[in-house]
Amino acid sequence: MDNCIFCKIVKGKIPSHTIYEDEELKAFFDIQPSTPGHTLIIPKEHYENILDVPEDLLLRITSLAKKLAAHYKKKEGYTAFNIIQSSGREANQDVMHFHMHLVPRYEGDGLSLWADMKKGVKPDFEKLREKLELE
Ligand SMILES: [Zn+2]
Repeated sequence: MDNCIFCKIVKGKIPSHTIYEDEELKAFFDIQPSTPGHTLIIPKEHYENILDVPEDLLLRITSLAKKLAAHYKKKEGYTAFNIIQSSGREANQDVMHFHMHLVPRYEGDGLSLWADMKKGVKPDFEKLREKLELE
């Protein structure tokens, strides 16, 4: 993908602060971090969102998020983490190359990521459950 900023980072055309890299994955600092240590984990191959990423790769990305969280806790003493993945523009996906955010958290960091998540919509739960139940 010629115009994809993450593909350019993978190819080394744009520099990044790389924390981890192997044949399939790359983890680097978000250039506009929410907290120090805010890291993006991406597959090197271009996939747009969670519906496109092969499952084995998704598992590797998630596994790396856990490994990095443990590593950051040990090295920097972060006490908590948010792991955020947005798929699709309506979900505020900004770069259309699959990425997972690992946001280290600590007491008094000033972030309130859940503020917009508590809008209290009231769907018809049973009707929706009937539609969405996975068989
Ligand atoms: Zn890309």
